[in-house]
Amino acid sequence: MSIVDLETVTNPNEKALIMKKALSILILVLGLMVSRGMAQEMKLASDPDWSKPYPAFKIVGNLYYVGTYDLASFLLVTPKGNILINTGLDDSYALIKQNIESLGSSFKDTKILLITQAHYDHTGALAQIKKETGAKLWVNRPEEDALRTGGASDYEMGKYGETFAPVVPDKLLHDRSVIKLGGTKLTLLSHPGHTKGSCSYLVDVKDGDKTYKVLIANLPSIIIDGKFSEVKSYPSIQKDYASTISSMKALNFDLWVASHANQFNLHKLRKESDPYDPTIFGDKKAYLEVLNYLEKAYSNVLKKEDTP
Ligand SMILES: [Zn+2]
Repeated sequence: MSIVDLETVTNPNEKALIMKKALSILILVLGLMVSRGMAQEMKLASDPDWSKPYPAFKIVGNLYYVGTYDLASFLLVTPKGNILINTGLDDSYALIKQNIESLGSSFKDTKILLITQAHYDHTGALAQIKKETGAKLWVNRPEEDALRTGGASDYEMGKYGETFAPVVPDKLLHDRSVIKLGGTKLTLLSHPGHTKGSCSYLVDVKDGDKTYKVLIANLPSIIIDGKFSEVKSYPSIQKDYASTISSMKALNFDLWVASHANQFNLHKLRKESDPYDPTIFGDKKAYLEVLNYLEKAYSNVLKKEDTP
């Protein structure tokens, strides 16, 4: 496309024609920008399993699954109120509320809100649930900014701007922080990489005369397309992924679940009508297989550093 200086064109008809052309190009460019924006929005909410209902069920002892078909939310029920971990998309609000009430628990009994990572598919309903229940939000300190900005400060998802309703944490935690409520005690394990403040939790759950050590894992999947060294707003990203992968491989636990149902094979392990059986979540080999797969993905991204 040649650039014409309008001031050098003397014929008014020609001038009008060029103006018309310029306008149509502008409309075309604007059109492209709009459709690209829509494509991004579509990309943000493209998995129907995220919004599909799934009935709440008991995982083990006082730990329940109250999420959607794929977006895991966990409820720890205690005599002093409940702890809710992860809140799905914004359209998960009604599904989570209904699931909690289906267990005979009051939604308003939610006292503490925790998250495994500040991405919109786990924090979408956070602000609304916090407002409706009055629960306190406790988060790993490096996640604070992303929550306050509704994801806009996230090193990767920030390119979409605000992706969930901003929310202000009530308490900042750190690696090995202990969260206690009504006899239930969780330990936060900082597992950064996927987000700056991604974390997992270990919790001892009593079930009859047995106690299970349950890992609620945030698996370190990689979402960047380029090199680690290109992520300027997160200089320690590569080092964080490396330490998260090695520390997760060394963890000891009896049962495990994760931020997405498909990550811990929920629908292969259990049908909706299956009777209570906590041991189905005890496949440590499957856990290590996922981590080995993620470690390979990490190595492949690392290899890119050697190419120009
Ligand atoms: Zn994520």
